[in-house]
Amino acid sequence: NPYLTLRDEYIEAEWWLIKKAEEQGLLDSEYRVVYWCPRCSTTLAEYEVEYRDLEDPSIYVKFPIREEENSHLVIWTTTPWTLPANVFVMAHPDEVYVKVKVGSEYWILAEKRLEHVMREIGVYEYTVVERMKGEDLTRYTYESPLVEVVPLQRKIAHLHRVVPSREYVSMHEGTGLVHSAPGHGFEDYDAALKHGMRDAIVCPVDEEGKFTSDAGLFEGLNVREANKLIIEYLREKGALVYSSSIVHRYPLCWRCKTPVILRATKQWVIKVSKLKDVIREEAEKVNWIPSWALTRLLNIIDNLQDWVISRQRYWGTPLPIWTCPNGHRVVIGSLEELRKYTAIEPRELHRPWIDQVTFKCPVCGLEMNRVPDVADVWMDSGVAFYASLGHPDRNNQGFNPVDFITEGHDQIRGWFFSLLRSGVLGFKTAPYKTVLVHGFMLDEQGREMHKSLGNYVGTDEAIEKIGRDPLRLWLLSNTIWEDIKFSWRELEEAKRDLSILWNIAVFAKTYMDLDSYNPRLDPL
Ligand SMILES: [Zn+2]
Ligand SMILES: [Zn+2]
Repeated sequence: NPYLTLRDEYIEAEWWLIKKAEEQGLLDSEYRVVYWCPRCSTTLAEYEVEYRDLEDPSIYVKFPIREEENSHLVIWTTTPWTLPANVFVMAHPDEVYVKVKVGSEYWILAEKRLEHVMREIGVYEYTVVERMKGEDLTRYTYESPLVEVVPLQRKIAHLHRVVPSREYVSMHEGTGLVHSAPGHGFEDYDAALKHGMRDAIVCPVDEEGKFTSDAGLFEGLNVREANKLIIEYLREKGALVYSSSIVHRYPLCWRCKTPVILRATKQWVIKVSKLKDVIREEAEKVNWIPSWALTRLLNIIDNLQDWVISRQRYWGTPLPIWTCPNGHRVVIGSLEELRKYTAIEPRELHRPWIDQVTFKCPVCGLEMNRVPDVADVWMDSGVAFYASLGHPDRNNQGFNPVDFITEGHDQIRGWFFSLLRSGVLGFKTAPYKTVLVHGFMLDEQGREMHKSLGNYVGTDEAIEKIGRDPLRLWLLSNTIWEDIKFSWRELEEAKRDLSILWNIAVFAKTYMDLDSYNPRLDPL
């Protein structure tokens, strides 16, 4: 049977899993940094962005240090629009930094970047007055140059300090001091969490990519268009060291080609990282063919991230989460359960109908509305092993893992993984017993076959030219889980081998018929 994710029954079965997560205390909503298309007003998955060369500003900015007069941290950025959300500056604790005297000021930056930066900004007269380790810089706090015009900067002024990071500070670009806005960058976000700075996840940008009132002077402006104004303001304040432009690879929305931004948004998350050990144990119980598939999967499990299940889209499986203004929530696991809360019967479970279903909060009595999000499509496919059989509560045969499943090796981190995750979450077990991983059919040079590359050979074409049996023989002589290079020559050889056998059989049969010899009656 095909699995049809758009059927109400399937949607209900998916709701059941989210309810399971809620019952185990694994469902939560929290800030996550996501790719965001300001034009489509939606989050994009990694595979939904494409990269193109784009011109952006490239600026060096001074952040005045509070502890030492006339001294500045010098940072570099290509996204001036993230400066209103700056929270801290990262320095590499093991690298050497220098304090240099430029005119009447002192600047701090990495020794390894000094020459390059000074050459780029055209400063030829400077003296190094002090050398220090990056970790010594962590005693510094600083002022944002935007503090007078960006209210958010006043709110987070107490957080502005130098934070050590070995992972995210490079000596290959910039100044070795990294401007960090955890609301607008994956690495910045990660660093903030590692330093226990949860209140550092700030984002003064709305769904349309415009600054909110938190950004004061820049409120209402599209962030990329605000770049110019921000640079102008920094120049007036005397905080701009140097401004030029750079052409770099930048992510665009796959649908509308608008440059995307990174933005912290509240998302619904299932904390599957807490199930890591069980997922690992269950994976090890499965029969993996070949065995390296398990090794690869265990690597993925070792780096297991919590599962962001919400998407800001219209079409998809609606999340079964209703909330009230007081922050209470109800998670619904089936249509039957929904009927206990409300008399409103949706025409079907998709939007817009499901959004019209409201009911009274069982805790405070205020009206509850569904959160507008839909589910990650990996949840649609990840529940297929049970959802295609109907809702678990109505399926009285109970749940049994499927015996066998096969897909290409690209699905180890894809479908095999997402099925396993759902299996453990819903049933505390792997959803399959044996997994066969097959390879890809490549062209003669080992490239993937694509119609657009012109190297694609269809099975019909191969059968027509060579014949069905030679194709079968050739395919079976390869190892299933290894990629195969398609070869007309090898197919010809398979055909020749089969022809020899065929000719022998024809030869023998001809003479046996002449002698009226019947091998069935007279076995040799
Ligand atoms: Zn878009
Ligand atoms: Zn309530």
